[in-house]
Amino acid sequence: MNLADSGLLSAAMEASGYTAVEEPADAGVIIINTCSVREKAEERALGRLSNLIRFKRENETYVCAVGCMAQRMGDDILKRVPGIDFILGTEQLFELPRLIAEKNNKPLVSTDMTDNLKFAEFPPVPDNSYRGLVTITRGCNNFCAYCIVPYVRGRERHRDSKTIIHEINQLVEKGVIEINLVGQNVNSYKHQDIDFPALLKQVLYETDISRVRFITSHPKDLSDALIDLFSDESKLMGHFHLPLQSGSDRILKNMFRKYTYDHYKGRVEQLRQARPDIALTTDLIVGFPTENEEEFEMTLDAVREIQYDSAFMFRYSVREGTWADKNLEDDIPEEVKLARLQKLIDLQKEISCEVNQKEIGKVRSVLVDGTSRRDASIWKGKTEGNKTILFSRDEDLLGQVVPVTVERADSWTLHGEMMG
Ligand code: SAH
Ligand code: SF4
Repeated sequence: MNLADSGLLSAAMEASGYTAVEEPADAGVIIINTCSVREKAEERALGRLSNLIRFKRENETYVCAVGCMAQRMGDDILKRVPGIDFILGTEQLFELPRLIAEKNNKPLVSTDMTDNLKFAEFPPVPDNSYRGLVTITRGCNNFCAYCIVPYVRGRERHRDSKTIIHEINQLVEKGVIEINLVGQNVNSYKHQDIDFPALLKQVLYETDISRVRFITSHPKDLSDALIDLFSDESKLMGHFHLPLQSGSDRILKNMFRKYTYDHYKGRVEQLRQARPDIALTTDLIVGFPTENEEEFEMTLDAVREIQYDSAFMFRYSVREGTWADKNLEDDIPEEVKLARLQKLIDLQKEISCEVNQKEIGKVRSVLVDGTSRRDASIWKGKTEGNKTILFSRDEDLLGQVVPVTVERADSWTLHGEMMG
């Protein structure tokens, strides 16, 4: 979501005459779009802002903190990093070009969310990109006990499907090959009588986009109609991100996730029936308040049973104002959280490696998005399952979709050879 917002803000800045530069020392405006989902993410953003403030030349460079942390902390950010010129929350960041034009010499803090029920429209992303993020919903109504997102992003707003289709068509005209439909919970998309499966059908049939993905799905709202699309629609890429959070039903209940592990497993089985080689990824939290060793083991068991392709794994981080913060003690010691996290990461790494070995010999359709960081003669791309694959080839393939046979794999990367 933040990447999508950053893209839209770039477009808004470019539309106002700005261009991007490589070095902070050359910049007239430095913008950090922030995340507040965990304390670590905020600490990193504050560190980065402190670092960048030294590039500020009086009255010549503006340093801006925008997005979720700006929404949550407001002018408290100035106590940590004095000298910031703009602090703009999740509903205000797109106003930046206008606000710069009106700037006086005081720091400007704006975290108003009163417009939160309307869905502001922004220009689609700039040219020269073959991958596009298209926001379909903003905000979240779920209030999982640990999560700050509903507080900093407000309630759900769903975009008109006509606008979404129009935007995708515009992106296709600009050369975009793959789109990712973005929302905190895409499964709850509903605009007039169009729900998420209906929207996806429109995207698949009423646009010329070649590859379609979406993120994120909440297991409680994952419908049969959505799963069925995976058996018929080849433009729908074979990857599903389905956050589990915990393998223990008691912890899931306390997190207010509103599903059990059995329900979750049933959804996964049905997805695998619809698209047998679908790549599955997830989010997991360890050390949620009161999680005992046995309940943590249930998460490990779930990971062993489901065999995810990869996972984002976190230790619980208290977020001020959430239900868990107000009602539960953060009672799992940091060293226990860290030990659990390490154990989980080690297990998932092993599983990712095993799962990736099964890719060997398969031909994957790869969208080439650049070259390897270490070796510019090696092309890098993503498979349908969203796995990174590297292969060498003596021609310019940037932005093309090519067939690549997988030859080797480790936990993170596939290596292959292009066919033909
Ligand atoms: N809307 C998405 C997730 C958004 S946040 C969903 O519901 O799946 C991304 C991930 O961050 C979450 O899935 C969760 O695993 C993690 N997360 C959120 N709040 C957290 C917290 N307080 N501590 C640790 N991890 C957290
Ligand atoms: Fe946070 Fe839950 Fe909403 Fe996801 S569904 S953004 S975890 S409150």
